[in-house]
Amino acid sequence: MTATPRKNSANLGGSWIDGAAAVTSGAQQRIVNPADGTTVAEIALATPADVDVAVTSARTTLCTWAGATPADRSVVLNNLAELMSANAELFITEEVAQCGKPIRLATEFDVPGSIDNIMFFAGAARHLEGKATAEYSSDHTSSIRREAVGVVATITPWNYPLQMAVWKAIPALAAGCTVVIKPAEITPLTTLTLARIAKEAGVPDGVLNVVTGSGTDVGTALAGHPDVDVVTFTGSTVVGRKVMAAAAAHGHRTQLELGGKAPFVVFDDADLDAAIQGAVAGALINSGQDCTAATRAIVARDLYNDFVAGVAEVMGKVVVGDPLDPDTDLGPLISFAHRNRVADMVRRAPNEGGRVVTGGVIPDLPGSYYRPTLIADVAESSEIYRDEIFGPVLTVRPFTDDDDALRQANDTGYGLAASAWTRNVYRAQRASRAINAGCVWINDHIPIVSEMPHGGVGASGFGKDMSDYSFEEYLTIKHVMSDITAAAEKDWHRTVFRKR
Ligand code: NAD
Repeated sequence: MTATPRKNSANLGGSWIDGAAAVTSGAQQRIVNPADGTTVAEIALATPADVDVAVTSARTTLCTWAGATPADRSVVLNNLAELMSANAELFITEEVAQCGKPIRLATEFDVPGSIDNIMFFAGAARHLEGKATAEYSSDHTSSIRREAVGVVATITPWNYPLQMAVWKAIPALAAGCTVVIKPAEITPLTTLTLARIAKEAGVPDGVLNVVTGSGTDVGTALAGHPDVDVVTFTGSTVVGRKVMAAAAAHGHRTQLELGGKAPFVVFDDADLDAAIQGAVAGALINSGQDCTAATRAIVARDLYNDFVAGVAEVMGKVVVGDPLDPDTDLGPLISFAHRNRVADMVRRAPNEGGRVVTGGVIPDLPGSYYRPTLIADVAESSEIYRDEIFGPVLTVRPFTDDDDALRQANDTGYGLAASAWTRNVYRAQRASRAINAGCVWINDHIPIVSEMPHGGVGASGFGKDMSDYSFEEYLTIKHVMSDITAAAEKDWHRTVFRKR
């Protein structure tokens, strides 16, 4: 399967506004395949003026979409899931070409995961919940309305472009909101294709818009737009805080899914082989460019040497190479600039005591590749242990007792995901309570399901993607309180004025 280069083709366009490919006048952006540096597509980026047009389109159509019945919206989302299945090969081809993802990952994770997510929200749209309607005062009936929050601005990163677009836009659409989404400028293709097939599925024009462009230009304009109602963002912590500040200038709601530095805690009663396999898979998924990736292995002293040796052995057998080869385990990183940043961090690690056990090598391949890397004995204060690397690099440290393990797990500003490996049910429960993160896996690391929420605490942000919980980001709660006495002079009026 090969990706065919496209030149700002009429059916794709650089942006998608009001149900059509938009002619925009921003800079030309080359979409580059990180596996070999070839041009996958070339598109014209949007400008802040295009953001205005897209937001106006979303605002204009809001009333109609929010006024549709949940069943109507559900039918459209089910159509979208079916169309994505029918176009799975296109989505896989684009995601592999623009990200350099191994084709197995795109085929078995990104695309089916996105389809499942859409199917989940097609159903969830039909059973929103609230408090029971009742007489909480003897003179009134109270009820709750859950209403679409309005126009949603969404900004997504390059590591999982399709899944991030789906996680943000689909619950918003299910809730009756309209959306303007800005993908990362280097990976816009699958988001544009999603918008195009959404129209075929019956999403009305203007309900789902895509504006491509840089963060500083189009991203800033969207995050700080006065006429959006909520800004949802997935990306780095630094940028997330800028987005929050821009939205706060208008008092707009935000939801932020930010970086991570997930601990991977291996207690002395763990199944060592399972922990070794899990650590390699958890660290290397998507070339380690995953906000929940296992990055800090914290291992009981008794198991430490065997864990380090086992992980190094498995990492040594990982196949690095062409993403289109089904035998490839690890593709390139997103760009040479990012790969070099990862390589520089690894190069500096020994200066702070880290021992590179395996990897730390740029392979002799045409793209921005990096070998799976294990760094042992890292100091708690070291850069490689504390900062997000976003590459195929696992660090490891020993711990002395359970308290020390849990202290080390929480010794980070991030709080997105974590795992604990033990056969002891009491330890597992204590760890899941003590570790400060939005998700704690027991004896596994990475799996996600559409029914369960994803989102962090602390420097990893706030709010939830996926699951019913994500509706909280896209709905308002309205209390309707109706008098049931039909009396002109109500009892409580006497508290305010006496009848004279
Ligand atoms: P990034 O923060 O650099 O960019 C994310 C998006 O923000 C892009 O679309 C970018 O163009 C835009 N942007 C940049 N500057 C902006 C600004 N000033 N105003 C508005 N928008 C701006 O992140 P990235 O490098 O694309 O992605 C990697 C990061 O994303 C990592 O930190 C990773 O942990 C995080 N991430 C988090 C999750 C999660 O669910 N918590 C999921 C995936 C990725």
